[in-house]
Amino acid sequence: MKMDAVVVGAGLAGLAAAETLADAGLEVVVLERGDGPGSKNVTGGRLYVDPVRDLFPEWWAEAPLERPVTHEAWTLLDEGKSLRVDFQDEGLGGALPQSYTVLRGRFDAWLGERVTGKGALVIPQKPVAELLWEGGAVAGVRVDGEEIPAHAVIACDGVLSFVGKAAGVTDRPAPRAVAVGVKEILGLPPGTIEDRFQLEPGEGAAELFVGSVTRGLLGGGFCYTNRESLSLGLVVGVGDLVEKGCGEKVPELFEAFKDHPRVRALARGGELLEYSAHLIPEGGLDAVPRLVQNGLLLAGDAAGLALNMGYTVRGMEFALASGRLAAQAVLEAREKGDYSAAGLGSYPQRLKESFVWRYLEAFREMPRLLENPALFTRYPAEVCRLVQSLVRLEREKPGKISGKVWEFLRKNVLNWRDLKMLNQLRKL
Ligand SMILES: Cc1cc2nc3c(=O)[nH]c(=O)nc-3n(C[C@H](O)[C@H](O)[C@H](O)COP(=O)(O)OP(=O)(O)OC[C@H]3O[C@@H](n4cnc5c(N)ncnc54)[C@H](O)[C@@H]3O)c2cc1C
Repeated sequence: MKMDAVVVGAGLAGLAAAETLADAGLEVVVLERGDGPGSKNVTGGRLYVDPVRDLFPEWWAEAPLERPVTHEAWTLLDEGKSLRVDFQDEGLGGALPQSYTVLRGRFDAWLGERVTGKGALVIPQKPVAELLWEGGAVAGVRVDGEEIPAHAVIACDGVLSFVGKAAGVTDRPAPRAVAVGVKEILGLPPGTIEDRFQLEPGEGAAELFVGSVTRGLLGGGFCYTNRESLSLGLVVGVGDLVEKGCGEKVPELFEAFKDHPRVRALARGGELLEYSAHLIPEGGLDAVPRLVQNGLLLAGDAAGLALNMGYTVRGMEFALASGRLAAQAVLEAREKGDYSAAGLGSYPQRLKESFVWRYLEAFREMPRLLENPALFTRYPAEVCRLVQSLVRLEREKPGKISGKVWEFLRKNVLNWRDLKMLNQLRKL
């Protein structure tokens, strides 16, 4: 007996795929290596609902979303100094907020139950370690010595996809194509969160940090407000860590980040509820592998579908959308009775017509632009220093404002090196 589909991984991509298949009455099993959906899934914390609202219209009234993000902030950090830009827009909230903070432990567990309720079999503690093959096509999986034959396997097993590798579609990601994130969830009373982030009750904030905390390495910090906790974390490019020989320093960098006066004040008194670390695909469009093979489709992080836009990170709604589109391609393949790569071809085609591809294409150059260390060192430090030179009183004759600004521009904008960098920004 062949299952219609086996989904490997009960994250957002896997559960979105499973729901789509179960809704259509197909026999689908989701195999998850963790103790259940949400147990092994890590994110920073902001889900852009807008792009996928209509794809999953029934979800949003009941999904365990934390807070709508109505405040965006970006903070430049230097030793003992910070400069914060705070953007507030009523339009980000309202009846249909653009994005929400989420906790994956809750969100994925809810989605897992929902999908199970629709008839999909979600089985925890099942790490898939082998694929079944039939005439050059993937034909199921073997788990715990048991064979589960299937017409199609959907690999939703995350950034280091075992399935993708076993099928010869993906390889170990290049160090420059991944970043590592460490994160704590810190419990705080809702009123404290709202006071600290200047929020109305129920509103949420997203704050990103860049500068001295990564000590010259590509990366930065994040802080998202949940109902009764903060998601606080630091992300660092693995390429930089490897090349500069400081892989072991990530926990140390995270401690220094939390100890920066700006971050310390936000997190003060927070009770540690959860600690996690995880890789993030950051290679952009050029790192996306082949998306289908005979009997196999890749979705979510397993397909490299995540994006560091510099000022925000996307991945969760890409996982949801790609999981759904992959499942729709399986439905079409079933109608045709053709699960070959050609029969599953509507998946890459639809993904290329979707918002996922549009964003990946628009930000194709981003991974290369982010390789400029000045973005994480000189620019944030010099901007903080310029402001410091304006706000600190001088004992001797005060320098002219125009002179300070001109000196800043000369050192950081109006020279060949920085103009070249500005010119590169035109590619975005
Ligand atoms: C620190 C950090 C911050 C981020 N911030 C954001 C953000 O703010 N906003 C955003 O949109 N995105 C963010 N992302 C990216 C986003 O979290 C991911 O893109 C998204 O979670 C991908 O979902 P997925 O379902 O593809 O993979 P995952 O959620 O990783 O799910 C993969 C699942 O497969 C299971 N699995 C793995 N191997 C096997 C196996 N062999 N057999 C069975 N099961 C297996 C895993 O246990 C897991 O449950 C962030 C990521 C990180 C790490």
